[in-house]
Amino acid sequence: MKKTLRYNYRLNPTPEQEVKLFEFGATSRGIWNMLLSENMRRYEYDKTFLFYKDMASVLKELKPFEEFNWIKAFDSAAAQQVARDLETALKNAFSKGRLQRFPKHKITYKKKKLHNDSFRAVNNSNCIRIENGAISVPKIGRVPIILHRKLASKIKTVTVQYRHGKWECSITQEVECKAALRVLKTITGFDINSKQTVVGSNGYVADNPKFLKQSKEKLNQLQRQLARRKKGSNRWHKTKQRINKLHGKISRQRLDFAHKISRQITNENDILIFENLNVKAMQKFNGSTVADNVMGLITQLSKYKTELEGKIYHEIGRFEKSTGICSECGQHHVLTLKDRNFTCLACRTYQGRDLSAAKSIAKTGELDLIAAGIVARVNPISQQKSAIKTKVFELSKFAVGSEKKVAA
Ligand SMILES: [Zn+2]
Repeated sequence: MKKTLRYNYRLNPTPEQEVKLFEFGATSRGIWNMLLSENMRRYEYDKTFLFYKDMASVLKELKPFEEFNWIKAFDSAAAQQVARDLETALKNAFSKGRLQRFPKHKITYKKKKLHNDSFRAVNNSNCIRIENGAISVPKIGRVPIILHRKLASKIKTVTVQYRHGKWECSITQEVECKAALRVLKTITGFDINSKQTVVGSNGYVADNPKFLKQSKEKLNQLQRQLARRKKGSNRWHKTKQRINKLHGKISRQRLDFAHKISRQITNENDILIFENLNVKAMQKFNGSTVADNVMGLITQLSKYKTELEGKIYHEIGRFEKSTGICSECGQHHVLTLKDRNFTCLACRTYQGRDLSAAKSIAKTGELDLIAAGIVARVNPISQQKSAIKTKVFELSKFAVGSEKKVAA
């Protein structure tokens, strides 16, 4: 199985390249807005849309006209990508079960440094290459890149973006997953609580790091400072830019933390069970603590990492109750957010709220996987292999795994 992954790299464009990159980003935004307006007009008129093919031919037709020289100057494959993205956004807005709204016009900021424009180039006939510390971007040239990690495979697309005052590019590549593990030795459930501490059913604990808290305090301080400044003044802009920069730092710190945690738990466990987080509901429930959503990030990153390793990632249902269930006897308890520990009413076991939640997540996940026929519990002593079926895994080393079950 192959997976398409994204890797981000920092770019160091020359001043001349930077001007061009800004221009390309703006062009990409301009094409989006123009095609969107056209779609809105049509939708008003007869409730129809332009599909990708139609939009691509609109672009082609406009190119020869002088007032559309700006499209001509742009990389044509990148222009087609904009049309593709818009088509996806329109389709998503109208497909059932999706929560996306009608796409919006992309806005611009008067101050250049606050932009987050981007454009995506496609590696047609190997036009995008990385050689001698530079990446060749169509119609831009060779832009110096910081290759902090090697490419995993051939480049598919490159998205060049300006975020939080810095240039970066995100390269998509196809990566081959490892063969699925035949013997899965550990199953662990993970609970991520409102304080963003990750707790595993095996006793693993990873605290929300202090540096994130510090950065956020700094952010609050700057936001108060911004409120005191006169809007639009020089000092206001200065503070605004510092806030923008800090946002970038926080998001990088958060991503780094999430990567490290997910890598560690993927390495240490064979089957990972998470809760399917209805993050939006959690946000309303807990307020700002969940707004910067580390837990969503950790589950997302763990998912692809386990898949790459040939391990199993499983999410239990969104409404499956996990908090307040005794890990020994399964008795339900109603806990408030303040109750960090509780004593079971039925069997009198004193336990941590998060650990017992993680244990119950692991238990539910295990039942799910067995019921779905994805894994079967086997006796670790009798190593006889039954007839090979696809997606039947042998499990061993279970605490109570002495009986042998065969999955359907
Ligand atoms: Zn109990």
